[in-house]
Order: sequence, then structure tokens, then C-alpha cells
Amino acid sequence: MKANFKGNSKLIFISLLIMVLCSLVLKKIFLKEDVSYYNNEIYRTIKTRTITEIINQDLESSVKSSNITYDKVAYITIDDGPSKFTNQILDILDKNDVKATFFMINRNMNTYKDEVKRIQQEGHGAGFHSVSHDVKTLYKTPQSTLEEFSICRNTFEEITDETSNLIRIPYGSKPNTPEESYKILVENGFLVWDWNLDTEDWKSTTDNIVSNVLLNGRNKDELVLLVHEKEQTVEALDGIIMILKERGYKILPITEEKEAMNFWNKNL
Ligand SMILES: [Zn+2]
Repeated sequence: MKANFKGNSKLIFISLLIMVLCSLVLKKIFLKEDVSYYNNEIYRTIKTRTITEIINQDLESSVKSSNITYDKVAYITIDDGPSKFTNQILDILDKNDVKATFFMINRNMNTYKDEVKRIQQEGHGAGFHSVSHDVKTLYKTPQSTLEEFSICRNTFEEITDETSNLIRIPYGSKPNTPEESYKILVENGFLVWDWNLDTEDWKSTTDNIVSNVLLNGRNKDELVLLVHEKEQTVEALDGIIMILKERGYKILPITEEKEAMNFWNKNL
């Protein structure tokens, strides 16, 4: 994966270089016309400058323009943990100085209590992902849907002495979730989060996960990425973060102050 990802970076760099060179050639052509017709003052100034100076200026202005779009926000949401990969994931997030949001299954919180504490202590978003992770069981009645997430919340409170109302419904809140189940969750204060960029990591190679992020969700001001605690996702995480940062996204944890984005309220 690393070799291919480096290959992609190289390709992007070469494309950028070609664009810069093309713009220089065009500048030269047009400015040359200017000077031949108008003996343009600007052309005389540019003529005395070196190519390096011009390239540096172009790079500076592209850095400035990428800063302007810095209000774009990406939320990396990680489902199905905690797991044997959680510590590795937390190390990568820490190394890159970004926070993610973990939607955790009840059984896994009980198995990986130290990881749950670490998630909370290191300032990541923490939310719940049901007890059964099974559509039939979860939607038996609206009451059973509510109960699964309440059990998760109790487990989290016992482990961390903190609470949370963030949830991610297994397989998303549409089309599987009955309206009564969705309603009872919202009425009881749970904040339902879906996603708008599915990396399909659970069935992909590391390279494909990175490509999915590269190719999708380009023009969104708010990205909610869906990933899972899988080995190939751990390997792709550095690359995902690099792409998001290069595109000017600020990578933040989900907090309860933020209005929930899901398929029902169509904020996604
Ligand atoms: Zn899941």
C-alpha cells in the first residue's frame, strides 16, 4: 500500500508541476504579446525575475488559497470497536494530532475497558453502536431499540464516569430503521449520526480505501467518513488523514453541541 500511495503522491506532484509550467508558458506568451504591442511595464519586471522566484510565488499563493477553505470539517467515525486495533488507531490519530469519533458495541466496551478509557481521556468522540448489531433483534420493538443504546450508555458511564448521547445505528438509520424506532431514540435524547462518505473499508484493500477517500466527497464542506476497526483500515489511516489535511479539512471529533447529521434529517 505504501508504495502505491507514494506513487499517487508522485503523480499528484507531477500533475501540479505540469500545471505550474503550463501556466508559466501561457503567462510568457500573453505577456510577450503585451510587450510587443504595449511595451508593458509588468513584463519588463517579470523578465528580470528567475523561474524559481515565479514558481515560489505560485506555490505561496496556492498555500494561501488552501488556507482560505480551512473551515471545511471532516469527522472520522470508527465503528464496531473497541478492538485489538484500537490502541494502534489511537497512536496514529495522536501522531497526526487529530481526533476521531468511536461508535462502540456494548460487548466490546466490556472486553476492552482500558481502550474505552483511553478514547475518552484523549478527547475523542465516544458514541454507541448497539448491543446486538443485529437488525432483527434491534428492531423487535421500538422499546428494544431504545434499550440497546441505553445499555451501551450505562456501560460507558460505568467505565469512564462520563456519559454520551451520540449513536450510530448499525447499517445506518435508513432504510432499515422503522420510524417508531428512530423517533423513540430522538425523543430520549440520543443523537443519531450516519455518514456521507462510505470508505467501504470492511471489504476493501488498504489501497482501495485510500482511493475511495481520494475519489469521493471532494466538494463537501462537511465530511462524515465511515470506517471500521479493521487491519486494512489501520494501515490506510495515515493516508486518509494526509488527504483530508491536504484538501484543507479540519479533522474534529463529533460533539453533542453539533446538530446530528443523518439520513432522516437530511443534513448529509
Ligand atoms: Zn457496525
